[in-house]
Amino acid sequence: MAKAIYPGTFDPVTYGHIDIIKRAREIFDSIVVTVAINTGKTPLFTTQERVEMLKDCLKEFQNVSVDSFDGLVVDHAKNVGAVSIIRGLRAVSDFEYEFQMALMNRKLAGEISTVFLMPHEKYTYLNSSIVRSLAGFNSDISDFVPPNVRNALERKFKK
Ligand code: ADP
Repeated sequence: MAKAIYPGTFDPVTYGHIDIIKRAREIFDSIVVTVAINTGKTPLFTTQERVEMLKDCLKEFQNVSVDSFDGLVVDHAKNVGAVSIIRGLRAVSDFEYEFQMALMNRKLAGEISTVFLMPHEKYTYLNSSIVRSLAGFNSDISDFVPPNVRNALERKFKK
């Protein structure tokens, strides 16, 4: 049973992330989507909120679970019994950072491989930060995030 973890900030989850998760499901028996708690970023949503949003978006997928972690991705991968780390590649601009992370993670845990997946072209320009900005300006984000995430963003910006 090949298990993979898909770590990220997911602040918030977008259709781009979900596209990657769907592709990963075709390859692995099970996927753990893992919200990184301490990434040096200051997230808009709390860890709990990000986990709940992901759970809601992914409830239809039997072989996908959601958790959070604070620490090294490779340690969490080992803890959950994952053999791979999934990451999404949108453009060449993602490559340098992802390449460095993948090689460092390999150095830390040679038995865990990073697997890169590319989303549908329509999501290649999409990231959580753009979605947060658009939502802050009351723009229509329905092409980018599921309805529960759109509602959560609306509530956040109304406060
Ligand atoms: P991180 O802070 O770890 O980059 P993100 O939530 O921004 O967390 O992204 C998690 C992973 O999902 C990363 O590998 C990122 O490249 C990928 N990703 C984010 N948005 C998209 C998208 N629109 N299409 C494909 N992959 C994406």
